[in-house]
This record gives sequence, structure tokens and C-alpha cells, in this order.
Amino acid sequence: MDSLKQIIRDIPDFPKKGIVFKDITTLLSDAKSFNRMVDLLAHRYIGEKIDQIVGIEARGFILGAALAYKLGTGITLVRKPGKLPYDTCSIDYELEYGTDTLEIHEDAFKKGDRILIADDLLATGGTMAAVVDLVDKFEVDLHECVFMAELDFLKGRDKLPPGKVFSLLNF
Ligand code: AMP
Repeated sequence: MDSLKQIIRDIPDFPKKGIVFKDITTLLSDAKSFNRMVDLLAHRYIGEKIDQIVGIEARGFILGAALAYKLGTGITLVRKPGKLPYDTCSIDYELEYGTDTLEIHEDAFKKGDRILIADDLLATGGTMAAVVDLVDKFEVDLHECVFMAELDFLKGRDKLPPGKVFSLLNF
């Protein structure tokens, strides 16, 4: 796991001063690391009853699509406002300054679907908590929230359903 952690690049002061941005593009562009990351995560869910992966715009689409292919499921997109073409359900959530909104198609799931929500990185947990609330409007079962990486010191998992969070790499 250490080699996967090491290939993620730290970018100090991006997008603003004081933030150390974990740049996962270096992991994605390295064939061995990308394959290993997807295989390790897919291995956790093979054999589980998962009907649909939910990917969060934009980097969550990458992990979400790779897992959906491996697990033989579809992927449902959660996107920023105005991007999805059909009727949507939306959720507003708090950011450090102001609020943001995420949307999902209103016919995204079948009743009783068991879902896995994927994103690249768990930081404060605000984004994933909003998506958990968004899918909660549907009659679905949340299997787990899955991340490539987690910034432990921000305690984002405290905002998410207990026992339903998994990150491959912890920083
Ligand atoms: P959060 O809602 O704070 O958990 O983070 C929202 C999104 O912002 C995550 O899905 C990441 O894609 C991105 N993000 C937040 N903080 C960082 C960071 N330090 N490095 C890389 N990505 C980050």
C-alpha cells in the first residue's frame, strides 16, 4: 500500500494557501498503480450484492466507472447543477464559504437497489454526506461509501453513516 501512497503527489497551497492538495493524477496515469488500486478495491466488493455504483463528479467518475466494470454493475452520475439532461433530484450543502448543489436523475434507481458510492478522496466529508442524503430520498440500501484516499485528520468519516466508509489509502 505504501507504494500507492507514495505515488500520490502533494501540491502545497493548491487551490489556495494552507491546503495540501493530494494529486491523484500521478496514480491514475501509472498503469501498474491504477490497476492495483482498482483491483484491490474491486476485490473488497466481489461477491457482494451491489446493484449500482454512484460516482460523484468529477474524479469519482473514474473510480466509479472502473469498479462498475469490474463488478458488472452500472454507474449512476451525481453531477453539478445543470449538467444532467433529464429530470433531477437535488441537494444543497454547506461549503466553507456559501453552499453548493448536487443533482441525480430522478429515475436513477430501482426500489431496493443496493448501492456503493464512489469518490476519489474523503476530506471534510461534506460532499459525501450530501450524496448520502441525496440517495436517501430513494428507496435504496447503502452498501458503503468508497474512496481511493482519506485525510484522517479531517475526520470526514464522522459525518458519514458509521461502519459504511472504506478508504484504500489513509493519510
Ligand atoms: P470534502 O467534501 O471536504 O470531503 O471534499 C470534497 C472533494 O474535494 C473531494 O472529493 C476531493 O475530490 C476534493 N478535495 C478536498 N480536499 C482535498 C485535498 N486536500 N486534496 C485533494 N482533493 C481534495
